[in-house]
Amino acid sequence: MERFADNLDLAQYQTDLLTMSAIAAIRQQLNADAGRKDCQDCGVPIPQARLLRVPGARRCMLCQERHERGLNPH
Ligand SMILES: [Zn+2]
Repeated sequence: MERFADNLDLAQYQTDLLTMSAIAAIRQQLNADAGRKDCQDCGVPIPQARLLRVPGARRCMLCQERHERGLNPH
């Protein structure tokens, strides 16, 4: 009975891992579908309006501004 419980825990653990990676994959797919991109400096999603205006934008407006002023080492 004890062994059965161990196997159950392992199965649950593996299911959790699967669920987590599945959710991550789905979230990435959603982001790709929406054309969403995250700022490479702060990781905040770049607003859609900015991406439309600046298709190759890799930073949010705040980080871009900082970058252009040369205050950001990145
Ligand atoms: Zn940013």
